[in-house]
Amino acid sequence: MAYVIIGNGVAGVSAAESIRQLDRDGRIVMIGDETEIPYCRPMISLVLEGAIPADRLTMRADNFYETMGIEPVLGRRVDAIDVAQKTVRVGGDTEIPYTKLLIASGADPRPITADGLNLKNIFFMRTQAQVRDMLQVLPDARRALVLGGGLVGFKAAYGLLRRGLNVTMLIRSGYPLSMQADETAGGIILQELRRKGLDVKVGTEAVAFGGNGAVREAHLFDGDRTPCDMVVIGKGVLPALSFVPRERIEIDLGIVIDRHMRTSAEDVYAAGDVAEGVDVARKTRWVNAIWPEAVTQGRLAGINMAGRPVSGEGSLGRNVIRIFDLDILTGGVVTPPDNDGYDVFQTFDGSRNTYRKLVFQGDRLVGVVLVNDIEQGGVFLSVMSSKTPVTASREGLLSRKFNYKQLLK
Ligand SMILES: Cc1cc2nc3c(=O)[nH]c(=O)nc-3n(C[C@H](O)[C@H](O)[C@H](O)COP(=O)(O)OP(=O)(O)OC[C@H]3O[C@@H](n4cnc5c(N)ncnc54)[C@H](O)[C@@H]3O)c2cc1C
Repeated sequence: MAYVIIGNGVAGVSAAESIRQLDRDGRIVMIGDETEIPYCRPMISLVLEGAIPADRLTMRADNFYETMGIEPVLGRRVDAIDVAQKTVRVGGDTEIPYTKLLIASGADPRPITADGLNLKNIFFMRTQAQVRDMLQVLPDARRALVLGGGLVGFKAAYGLLRRGLNVTMLIRSGYPLSMQADETAGGIILQELRRKGLDVKVGTEAVAFGGNGAVREAHLFDGDRTPCDMVVIGKGVLPALSFVPRERIEIDLGIVIDRHMRTSAEDVYAAGDVAEGVDVARKTRWVNAIWPEAVTQGRLAGINMAGRPVSGEGSLGRNVIRIFDLDILTGGVVTPPDNDGYDVFQTFDGSRNTYRKLVFQGDRLVGVVLVNDIEQGGVFLSVMSSKTPVTASREGLLSRKFNYKQLLK
């Protein structure tokens, strides 16, 4: 048996470990274009911030591949898959045969269109190497521009602010974290970011960059100009699947998977940020590009690849994040379409800066937003993922005093 895994991020690692638990002898080859041993991607912003050194990012021991009996092929890119021959092509020349293949290639930063993108000191923030490059520029940088108000944009802006730079954030939508939070929570977050010294401009974006070799200013689409010594682009991600044959493996936004993490091609599986499976709250397929889903999907893929059929329940988009003095928890459908059978219950307490919103569809909780007082959030998320019917008073659930028993009454 030869298992080949494309990607040595957390989905690939979780799959490899699950395979090894069930198959002591099978050959496992892991191919990754990064050279580091597996590391915790969400924490790279802590290195930018200076809170931890880069060597604290690793998520497995240095001898991980050796102890697991895995053959690593690192610093090499997969550029094609031949599902008829059951081979993977690496670096344009080497063919690696597989019996079972996992595509766990994660996501790439969403590119932007703007003039002057070839200037120096314009970065994406997806990899350790990119953060290393950013750190080189910091000593000479005074002003940073961050494009995008999502999770990555926020983490970059926070890190640069902690390094003492003047940071401007450009957000195309009306408020930050618009993919995770609703308008009310977004408004609270916006106020907090500005209160803490970030210059946040909403409803705008950069159309060009100017400078002589290195970036010195951004031109905004409303005609404004913003000076900057470095730029970080954090406008979301797209599944990394340029090497996947579309005519043989079904792709929507991500690689379409079933509940066993199988793709439409025989013996080919996908997991993590590259995969699109059913979303339990939306009841449709969705790419939930978050760490805990990559772990779960990777494990499920590995178990199924090793021959034990196990079915997943589907994914749930959720995030827990601290933004300066605010704790935010969001999950599922936070801004439901109007008149589409959703019931929304919400309460905002300005004096304590707390906000709660629960979204129901019939007797099912399908969305939650909590700003501060997020302790009960885990219960809401678990009720959503387990699709437990909720019959209790919905207004009662908005109270911070509700308890789990009440939820299931
Ligand atoms: C700055 C930042 C902050 C984040 N914060 C959070 C957070 O707070 N909470 C959260 O839940 N999630 C967060 N995420 C998202 C989280 O990191 C991802 O969901 C998770 O890493 C996905 O794991 P993965 O294994 O699917 O993909 P990845 O971690 O992207 O790993 C895939 C690997 O495959 C490699 N690869 C891609 N194409 C090829 C190819 N053709 N050949 C060989 N190798 C290839 C990639 O280089 C990469 O090493 C954050 C991400 C970033 C960048």
